[in-house]
Amino acid sequence: MNSKYEVVIGLEVHVQLTTATKIFCGCSTAFGGEPNSQTCPVCLGLPGALPVLNEKVVEYAIRTGLATGCAIAPRSIFARKNYFYPDLPKGYQISQFELPICEHGRLDIETEKGGAKTVGITRIHMEEDAGKLVHGDSPDTAGHSFADLNRACTPLLEIVSEPDMRSADEAIAYLKKLHQIVVYLGVCDGSMEQGSFRCDANVSIRPWNQKELGTRAELKNINSFRFIKQAIEYEVERQAEILDEGGRVIQETRLFDSSNGTTRSMRGKEEAHDYRYFPDPDLVPLVVSEEWIERVRGELPELPEAKLERFVREYGLPRYDAEVLCADRAVADYFDAVVERHANPKACANWVMGEVKRRLNEEAIAISSAPVSAPLLAGLLARIDDNTISGKIAKTVFEEMWKSGEEADAIIEEKGLKQVTDTGAIETIVDAVIAANPSQVEQFRGGKEKLIGFFVGQVMKESRGKANPGTVNELLMKKLKG
Ligand code: ADP
Ligand code: MG
Ligand code: ZN
Repeated sequence: MNSKYEVVIGLEVHVQLTTATKIFCGCSTAFGGEPNSQTCPVCLGLPGALPVLNEKVVEYAIRTGLATGCAIAPRSIFARKNYFYPDLPKGYQISQFELPICEHGRLDIETEKGGAKTVGITRIHMEEDAGKLVHGDSPDTAGHSFADLNRACTPLLEIVSEPDMRSADEAIAYLKKLHQIVVYLGVCDGSMEQGSFRCDANVSIRPWNQKELGTRAELKNINSFRFIKQAIEYEVERQAEILDEGGRVIQETRLFDSSNGTTRSMRGKEEAHDYRYFPDPDLVPLVVSEEWIERVRGELPELPEAKLERFVREYGLPRYDAEVLCADRAVADYFDAVVERHANPKACANWVMGEVKRRLNEEAIAISSAPVSAPLLAGLLARIDDNTISGKIAKTVFEEMWKSGEEADAIIEEKGLKQVTDTGAIETIVDAVIAANPSQVEQFRGGKEKLIGFFVGQVMKESRGKANPGTVNELLMKKLKG
């Protein structure tokens, strides 16, 4: 990357809330319904219909504000943002402008190269989403566009950062952290493909000795972390080339093209909207009491950092394990539930991070649909720790459990996989192995003690993996040395 300039990035993130109903009416927010089946006079923008604020949306906004260190405004205002587009039936979007519900927050991030730093959160406000235009692609619909208003009036939070990030890596660290927090809070499902978490990146550069910020470009609606990084990096190079040639960057909105990793101009500042914001006369000022804020604060779930610290402190897990487990709240909750039933945290962590995650990845399913539930996994781990089966056999049992959803005990019984700890039975095999390998016995007795591995292997093979390795070792040593 060009090192003559400092990179400056500020992010605007739109978070779609998981409330069952829309922000100003009772219509469902479910994804993927028949077009316009989830609409009513309010979200269709019919004349005379009046909005009624969804209390849950306010609660989710307070939750998010508290989790990001914001001050919650005791009084905030809804404003109309006026613009014309066919997916916006009222001709304005209800948003917040001068008095948003949350301000002055912060998020701590960490990057490999840049270390730890704090990114300021300017504001968080509530607003409604627009509908969706569907462009016809069949012979009789080609050239026509259709409006689907199911998404109109879906509740969003817009989270605006200060221009505090200095590289694409920092921007990604911020986004991942924010994503993790809203998912932990349960206010967003986090799906970037479905557009539940989307980001506009504002990017500018300036010579290192310059105080004032450079002119920014706003990169719109990029729907994956990888694309955001690509878009920012491309944009920085583009602006550096302009400055290198003595030109000036113009303020504009640019669209990212994922097919070739570039950005192109969508509209310049001259065409920028004049939104003519004004307070929405249909909605009274929103007053949030101190008691309400405190109640929400008291109900906040354990956040990612606190959970990670707890896993290290209470369970004695290595930091790396705690990080992997806490990356996804559902995985962390699953792990908690396993440990609750089987008090060997490190073994539980190894299995969740290993076999469980491997199978989830293979089948591309979420942990909530894993056929081996937390109690079932705990049941399996108990059989390893009490020496009923070896770790190796446990993997076979796990595979069976995954396929059938049965309990470990049932499978161990059914398939006769119990480890043989009966000394008599193992002794018979040990004797047979010793008798069958006289030259190895001679070498062993002559000082080549490394051969113990060979003998253990032979006995395990004879017992089809079911002999208890500890007992095998003990018996072999006794007989070979004696
Ligand atoms: P708008 O609503 O027109 O997009 P804002 O002033 O609300 O404008 O800024 C939006 C975002 O742009 C914020 O995240 C802010 O941090 C960022 N931003 C503002 N100026 C710059 C700049 N010069 N370079 C990079 N980011 C910037
Ligand atoms: Mg903007
Ligand atoms: Zn409606």
